[in-house]
Amino acid sequence: MLLQDYKVTKVRRNLCNPEWITVAAELSDDISEVFPYLNAVVKNAVYTPEAQNLNFKIDAGAISLMPREMSAGQVTCEEDAIKVLDYVKEMINDTWEKRASIIPVYERKEEIKAKDIVDFLPKTNCRDCGLPTCFAFAVALLKGQKRLRDCPALSKAEFAQDREALARLLQTVSSEEAAK
Ligand code: SF4
Repeated sequence: MLLQDYKVTKVRRNLCNPEWITVAAELSDDISEVFPYLNAVVKNAVYTPEAQNLNFKIDAGAISLMPREMSAGQVTCEEDAIKVLDYVKEMINDTWEKRASIIPVYERKEEIKAKDIVDFLPKTNCRDCGLPTCFAFAVALLKGQKRLRDCPALSKAEFAQDREALARLLQTVSSEEAAK
């Protein structure tokens, strides 16, 4: 078994849709090794190796995985979120068990989009960056019109990991742009 256990650490309300919550959990084990296998078997998986992040959607919610963290978004209550997290834990362990029969995919299956950037932004739509939403800021980042330092919230300690992941992600975008 790759993932033994998880502990819920954060519950936050979705600002765009207050009926939804996102529940984040700390993982007992590093699950990064399963990412290329999940990327191969989950049809709608969006894997970002540079940021060590894998996102996908299931009927019951939106899942985001980091090496030591997972979250379930677009769920209506904590009880449902726990069911989703249990399901994902089982999926991680099942995929890991079957890895010998899966051809891993180590690369992202589609190009980086603004919504992938938004996943790492504070999602408060506070406008401190001079733009009306975090999504607009993500678009501006992708176009090179804004820098990470233009979002003051990102410099807070609680977003240090997200900032680091974003920096790695944007580095990929600029090297892809440079290669064009
Ligand atoms: S300053 Fe940051 S958190 Fe606020 S809207 Fe802009 S990107 Fe979002």
